[in-house]
Amino acid sequence: MKSTSYDYGECVICNTPMQEKLIKQDFWIRDELIIIEDIPAGVCPQCGEKVVKAEVGRWVAELIKYSDRIAKAPRVSVPAIKFDA
Ligand SMILES: [Zn+2]
Repeated sequence: MKSTSYDYGECVICNTPMQEKLIKQDFWIRDELIIIEDIPAGVCPQCGEKVVKAEVGRWVAELIKYSDRIAKAPRVSVPAIKFDA
């Protein structure tokens, strides 16, 4: 999906104009952490609030349904820390 210039309006939290960026989003699916990269989203430069267009949200929901696509995706390792307070 190409990134197009789209007016994300202003941040609902601090009213700063949102800027379009490609973001990473993580999802837990059946105990597996999945990261989707390059999602076009509006990001608030002030507070970091993120919004995605409805169509982008739908496509993300579709992407994470394809278990064979997930199975073939490259693996990355992430730090895992135990909460041992
Ligand atoms: Zn904000």
